[in-house]
Amino acid sequence: MFRNFPMISRVVYGRGSFDQIDEILAERRRPGRDSVVFVVDDVFDGAPLADRVPVRDGDVLLWANVDVEPKTSYVDEMTDLARAAAGDEPAGIVGIGGGSVMDLAKAISLMLTNPGSSADYQGWDLIGHAAVYHVGIPTLSGTGAEVSRTAVLTGPDKKLGLNSDHTVFDQVVLDPDLIADAPDRQRFYTGMDCFIHCVESLEGTYLNAFSEAYGSKALDLCREVFLGERTPESDEKLMMASFFGGMSIAYSQVGVAHATSYGLSYVLGLKHGEGNCVAFNHLEEFYPEGVEEFHRMAELAGVDLPTGVTGGLSDSEMERMMDVSLGMAPLWENALGPDWREHMPRDRLRALYERM
Ligand code: NAD
Ligand code: ZN
Repeated sequence: MFRNFPMISRVVYGRGSFDQIDEILAERRRPGRDSVVFVVDDVFDGAPLADRVPVRDGDVLLWANVDVEPKTSYVDEMTDLARAAAGDEPAGIVGIGGGSVMDLAKAISLMLTNPGSSADYQGWDLIGHAAVYHVGIPTLSGTGAEVSRTAVLTGPDKKLGLNSDHTVFDQVVLDPDLIADAPDRQRFYTGMDCFIHCVESLEGTYLNAFSEAYGSKALDLCREVFLGERTPESDEKLMMASFFGGMSIAYSQVGVAHATSYGLSYVLGLKHGEGNCVAFNHLEEFYPEGVEEFHRMAELAGVDLPTGVTGGLSDSEMERMMDVSLGMAPLWENALGPDWREHMPRDRLRALYERM
């Protein structure tokens, strides 16, 4: 079966476009259904951006803390807060932040219209009812969460997204000014998520002309950003790279770095971008050119990559990590082909993890 995915209905792009949100939301407000819930990364609490969030009377601003990546319990808690303040069907949910806050906003918009806990919907196409109108506004670029049809959540027994057509944002606002002040290390980790999306998509067996077109453009942009001088245009390029990288993997798949990184996140709590970098650092046997370029990018960015992270793990933790990783069958299949299980026996995977 060929993929038949919805696209984001509307996209605004440009420096300063953040200030257009009030106007965009005004079109969505209806009598009796006029409040908007803003879900904003609490890193902006007290920052100038906070004063620019167009909160009108009757709207709600929820500060989101993403010191740990979103959990299903946190989504449920935030959904209750949103419902208590704005009713079952607010005019819209607006997520302002990195991949974590965008995923939170997507998940809240889904959980306002679907009963139970968000943990019940971790998987593919389990969502029955359309979400509340939802808007994504990235303040970090790289994850592609602004375009994807998933909201990645850690639940009681798995880290898995709410993957559905309803998850996709109705509106995205891409304002390169918003990513300008992100700390360098975070910018690197999240940016490398995009670089790795491109390499894994372009080197994968699922590649097709659609994914190739987006992925190769995104890869060029990543090279300009992370191998060249930083200029004001770098933020514009990085923002577009993230968007295109997300489009590329939507129609192909990621590969070995993501498959192993999910295990690192689950067992060690490493964040998505950092986990990918820890993994990709040792994947030259799969992606020789990509890893060589990645090393140059890390050096130019002055980022020392963590090593030895799996050193203190018990045998059962190592086994759990391998189970999580080997559970990502499509990622392995994309990377190594249909008989990937023969190419990636547990002892090979263990040796790979031991190097990290
Ligand atoms: P993030 O959203 O987890 O944020 C990382 C840190 O940067 C946080 O401390 C945050 O407060 C801070 N931050 C965000 N914007 C900032 C800014 N402009 N200035 C200063 N600090 C800022 O980081 P991320 O890498 O964008 O997202 C990772 C998350 O995205 C993970 O939860 C991962 O699971 C998810 N993800 C989702 C998808 C998807 O398709 N839905 C894809 C990849 C990753
Ligand atoms: Zn990723």
